[in-house]
Amino acid sequence: MGKKILLEHINVPGIETYDVYRKQGGYTAVEKALKTMTPDEVVEEVKKSGVRGRGGAGFPMGMKWSFLAKPEGVPRYLVCNADESEPGTFKDHYLMKNLPHVLIEGMIISSYALGANKSFIYVRGELMYVVRILEKAIAEAKAAGFLGKNILGTGYDLELVVQPGGGAYICGEETALLESLEGKRGNPRNKPPFPAVKGLYQSPTVVNNVESIATTSWIINNGGEAYAAIGIGRSAGTKLISASGHIKKPGVYEIELGVPVEEFIYSDEWCGGIRDGHHLKAVVAGGSSVPILPANLILKLANGDPRLMTYESLSDGGFQTGTMLGSGGFIVFDETSCIVRNTWNFARFYHHESCGQCSPCREGTGWMERVLHRIEYGHGNQHDIDLLVDVAKKIEGNTICPLGDAAAWPVASAIRHFRDEFEWHITNPSEATQPGAVFKGDMALV
Ligand code: SF4
Repeated sequence: MGKKILLEHINVPGIETYDVYRKQGGYTAVEKALKTMTPDEVVEEVKKSGVRGRGGAGFPMGMKWSFLAKPEGVPRYLVCNADESEPGTFKDHYLMKNLPHVLIEGMIISSYALGANKSFIYVRGELMYVVRILEKAIAEAKAAGFLGKNILGTGYDLELVVQPGGGAYICGEETALLESLEGKRGNPRNKPPFPAVKGLYQSPTVVNNVESIATTSWIINNGGEAYAAIGIGRSAGTKLISASGHIKKPGVYEIELGVPVEEFIYSDEWCGGIRDGHHLKAVVAGGSSVPILPANLILKLANGDPRLMTYESLSDGGFQTGTMLGSGGFIVFDETSCIVRNTWNFARFYHHESCGQCSPCREGTGWMERVLHRIEYGHGNQHDIDLLVDVAKKIEGNTICPLGDAAAWPVASAIRHFRDEFEWHITNPSEATQPGAVFKGDMALV
């Protein structure tokens, strides 16, 4: 069994309650941090751990913390981004639902490190039952003296607020989240200024993902160096992976970074292999926004070495032959999947979720959806494929927030690796539009 940090006690009955969590060693990291460490020492420990933001960007968390401005007399805020809405990603939902105190404990330690006295957990609006689970856990932690005024007699005060989200994917973008938290429409802000300087209510703010914050208890209990020793190189620690699609065992798995992709897909410890009688065709490794890779490229690097579940190995080869670890939304497709239909489906999502502030995203996502729709439904022409590539290029890098790139990359990568499937839809419209029809060219299946 691989190393477990976040999900170590997932199977302990009643672990969602304070009493059981406490019996398993819960809140000892809060005691250690608040009673024996300065806030700067906590930041230093997180820096040493090398843990990177688990929401998708993979930016080193300790470094992000050290950017926080500290002007005199101005409050600072920690905001937990629990707005998980990326198609294919459901690990934060799983963590909050089953182990709410792991997040609450991480919030207390992280808030203390940053000097925040009021912190927020912004939860995806559809997950009201999770909001209630977190509120119950906060009440339990407060009754036990871990929240509120003068925590554990140390003089440190912390109020924790759970805020249901605005119900839009874009509210997961950190500045849109802050706008939404302030009660406004969740539109991303122009940057700079960055949230570390002017964030929530124009005060210095750190926005971190659920999984990132949850790791801090283990780091404080065991030391940053112990965390850095898990995983490989700059991909330190463990990662929660949401595995879905045509595998035998979909679910949320905690892996030590560095597991070969092939082992992750075929081992009974994780995905258990492709469903019986079928073959691997493609994988979206890090949530719907990262480039899709065909079977041969997801399993091996260009030099034939195994591809690993790390930030570096998954992106090896750039976008020509690589992809990204992203948020760890691992979607597996077998040979019954139509790549054109899936790409159109993703494009529909991004068009629907574009906030409309910048023209390349507002117009481009609509163009891509419409062009993909006509290819899928047998009305496309050869020029359409190059048109899609052109529109994706014009969106990429030219928008206020990353949603533009997130919409462009799935389309560009699907054409890069499955162009013959798009062409087949155009040259064989009557066959391609039959129910369940799928391209059966000489694609590499595994
Ligand atoms: Fe809005 Fe799209 Fe521009 Fe982001 S990229 S600000 S979602 S229009």
